[in-house]
Amino acid sequence: MSTLLITGGAGFIGSHVVRLFVTKYPAYKIVNLDALTYAGNLENLKDIEQAPNYFFEKGDITDEGGMQQLFDRYDFDGVIHLAAESHVDRSIADPLQFVKTNVLGTANLLNVARKSWAGRFEGKRFYHVSTDEVYGSLGEQGMFTETTPYDPRSPYSASKAASDHFVMAYYHTYHLPVVMSNCSNNYGSHHFPEKLIPLMINNILNKKPLPVYGKGENVRDWLWVEDHARAIDLIYHEGATGDKYNVGGFNEWKNIDLVHLLCTIMDRKLGRAAGESAQLITYVTDRPGHDLRYAIDATKLNRELGWKPSLQFEEGLEKTVDWYLNNTDWVEHVTSGDYQHYYKEQYEHR
Ligand code: NAD
Repeated sequence: MSTLLITGGAGFIGSHVVRLFVTKYPAYKIVNLDALTYAGNLENLKDIEQAPNYFFEKGDITDEGGMQQLFDRYDFDGVIHLAAESHVDRSIADPLQFVKTNVLGTANLLNVARKSWAGRFEGKRFYHVSTDEVYGSLGEQGMFTETTPYDPRSPYSASKAASDHFVMAYYHTYHLPVVMSNCSNNYGSHHFPEKLIPLMINNILNKKPLPVYGKGENVRDWLWVEDHARAIDLIYHEGATGDKYNVGGFNEWKNIDLVHLLCTIMDRKLGRAAGESAQLITYVTDRPGHDLRYAIDATKLNRELGWKPSLQFEEGLEKTVDWYLNNTDWVEHVTSGDYQHYYKEQYEHR
């Protein structure tokens, strides 16, 4: 019996990780700790919430006393830490919230784990989930490897970089048994509709303008979220302590090409004329400091642990579009209230 804390399990990636662990490891006790911010939604886990090995705890990773009580209550064997503020545009509007959650929250969890596990690190594991954005921006050539120096350029990536440094500092200073991964952009079901792919699907469906930053030339690597969850499972169980792994899809797309592909898929699924949805594309003022290109080299994870992406991008996009078309209620629920206000500020006042 292993007791595992997963933070941020009500969010996009976290919910896929919780679902995978709860179903694949019935002998594990899985505790999902989430503050349920605008990005956290327990509806994401409706299908597994009755499982006998699943427990939900509402709490804030920055709360020192609360996290200590949680560790005292459950005596965790391991932590998979995903809770974070995750949206770059929000980090530009409110950077200090990102410092608080991503830097202070991570440092707090590390510290509580260090104190709670003092003298018995054997068999314990603290896994920190991070992003490729910590490496900065690439030109036309090259890829990020695990040894690429950090060069974060947005408040989001700076806060994630700082949290990564704290994780490695706890390994070197206290020998806390950590492991870490840096992943490219994920896509799939339950993705909050402020992010590019679900935002476009939602807007195409509702015939709203499709806001594309600058000329849409920015390049991102995209990975099916369930492939990321599989990588997390593998790294949690088999990754080397004190090591880090890049995770990516070997799947680079210019934003504008991706939006056109989504328009084509949606035109077909909605019975619209070819090219109809693409007319909704609207170029908006570029994001300040917008990184041109991210490309991640996941060779080490393949070589050492045998992981590779399972799904072709076009197939994954079809599945994603189908999920959003079949779950319009979910979109309605998560986009009410606060999100409406944020959306207006972000896109309609430009
Ligand atoms: P998300 O925004 O969908 O979910 C974040 C979750 O964390 C939410 O459920 C939210 O309620 C929770 N949370 C926020 N602040 C909290 C706090 N103070 N205490 C407890 N819970 C809190 O994010 P995501 O896209 O699922 O990303 C999860 C992790 O993976 C993040 O650490 C992110 O940096 C990393 N990551 C994301 C991507 C991506 O493409 N989305 C890629 C690489 C890495």
